[in-house]
Amino acid sequence: MLRAVQAQYLHIPQAAIEQLAAALHIPRTQIIAVAEFYSFLHLTPQGRYDIHISDSITDRMLGKEKLLNYLAEKLKVKTGQVRADGLVSLNNTSCTGMCDQGPAALVNGYALTRLDHAKIDLIAELIEQQAPLLEWPAELFAVDEPIRKPGLLLNQPFNNGAAIAATLARGLMETLAEVDCSNLRGRGGAGFKTALKWRTCSVQTDTPHYVICNADEGEPGTFKDRMLLDLYADQVFEGMTLCAAIIGSDQGLLYLRAEYLFLYEQLQRVLKRRRESGLLGRNILGRDGFDFDIEIRMGAGAYICGEASAQIESLEGKPGIPRVKPPNSVICGYQRKPTVVDNVETFFAATHIAIQGGLWFAEVGTAQSTGSKLLSISGDCARPGIYEYPFGTLVKDILRDCGADDVMGVQVGGPSGTFISNRELQRRIAFEDLSTAGSFMVFNSSRSIFDIVQNFTDFFAHESCGFCTPCRVGTTLLKNQLRKIVEGNGAAVDLEELSELCLIVKNTSHCGLGDSAANPILSTLASHPELYLNQLKQSSFTPGFDLDATLAVARRMAQRDDDAAHLSQVEN
Ligand code: SF4
Repeated sequence: MLRAVQAQYLHIPQAAIEQLAAALHIPRTQIIAVAEFYSFLHLTPQGRYDIHISDSITDRMLGKEKLLNYLAEKLKVKTGQVRADGLVSLNNTSCTGMCDQGPAALVNGYALTRLDHAKIDLIAELIEQQAPLLEWPAELFAVDEPIRKPGLLLNQPFNNGAAIAATLARGLMETLAEVDCSNLRGRGGAGFKTALKWRTCSVQTDTPHYVICNADEGEPGTFKDRMLLDLYADQVFEGMTLCAAIIGSDQGLLYLRAEYLFLYEQLQRVLKRRRESGLLGRNILGRDGFDFDIEIRMGAGAYICGEASAQIESLEGKPGIPRVKPPNSVICGYQRKPTVVDNVETFFAATHIAIQGGLWFAEVGTAQSTGSKLLSISGDCARPGIYEYPFGTLVKDILRDCGADDVMGVQVGGPSGTFISNRELQRRIAFEDLSTAGSFMVFNSSRSIFDIVQNFTDFFAHESCGFCTPCRVGTTLLKNQLRKIVEGNGAAVDLEELSELCLIVKNTSHCGLGDSAANPILSTLASHPELYLNQLKQSSFTPGFDLDATLAVARRMAQRDDDAAHLSQVEN
């Protein structure tokens, strides 16, 4: 509802909040809390053309900063502001899921890819002419899906309905046994065993049960779910449908990240076609009582909503704050009912397991990580795009395939994952070694590790949902402390404090975001300690900011701007 209001009024006006509160019988503060939580919802008017440029590290490596300045100059608007005539607003955003075709941006939610000066000239012209987005040249919005290396799953032939038919013919519990035998683990990063999740949900007596497809891949550097939804949507929906049959659900929800708005209409068309073909709706494939349908719900710009319980909160129309667990969502999920939440790639894999059987899948990969993994490869390589590998593949083989000759390091698993140096390329993609939801970013020797780590640390500080203190405060302290050291104002004590802060944030935060927010610092401290030590130019402590200047306004307000109110920051 808030998205619809904003589409019409360019923000969510007070009058709309009052009306919604009355119609929904909820306090207006609840609506304001939602509007304030999500990056793409606004309580103040935005421009008629609202532009968000991706600030992901790979976009920065492709010259994003210069392009942003050029665009700001052309449109005569500052970043973070709305132009005085209300025509255009310009902002940064964390990541648009287009790391293989950046620099990228969103205009009114729709992705713009491979930006360069010529495209920006054209965009500025179209905006000044007030041309409707529908009349903009299609090439501005072109999203490629470069599948560079298909493997076990992407190469499989598929006929619509085949997995559902196989499931019904084999039997529901027998198909669950095949999923169990495949040892399929969740592809969203956590790696929880899929069959165990489905079985636990199926035996819950509380009803109804729900199936949620988590299509909120917000980890910078990840875009393989975009490709699956763009090219393999039937196979994803089919995986949701057979899951529904097994757990006894008649309602599925697909939570689509806001940045993938360009997929919304085509996904609706796929759903419509599947309903018309008897693959969704009532009595699926003629089986009496097998009813299931899928609804698509859009996110509104919040990385934390990739976390299952935060996503459920978001689906319930609330701020996406992770729930306290237990109970787990499989017992008490959407609308407090038993719910399976799985990643797009997990459902896609389940579809083929239902057809081919569990052994077929389990024979590929390693003992603890069976099957294959889709990787989204970006950064300093000749062939960025989608690659599918058996689990256990060496990093060095992946780098060879994607044309990365000069490698300083690789960030596996996005900012929340692991940074490995070029001395660790014998490591493997697997849950037991380098776990990843799909992000694989390559950095060559011209890149600064600190640029990368600062970008990731800023990202977590921005995306912290603010619920718990260690993460809300800690991520900002990490950001500031790191900046102090990188800028050459740190002493040995600052490095100690940084390490200590990392552990506090990691060990005491409420959810996975806080748990992994210090990973970029911790993994580069482990792989390149000398870099941090070289930055320590000060022998003794120096304040990271000017305390007097920071407190000046407060002192004036308190009328305590006298000499005695000032503490010297210099050690005597
Ligand atoms: Fe929110 Fe961070 Fe706490 Fe997670 S760890 S609940 S993202 S504040």
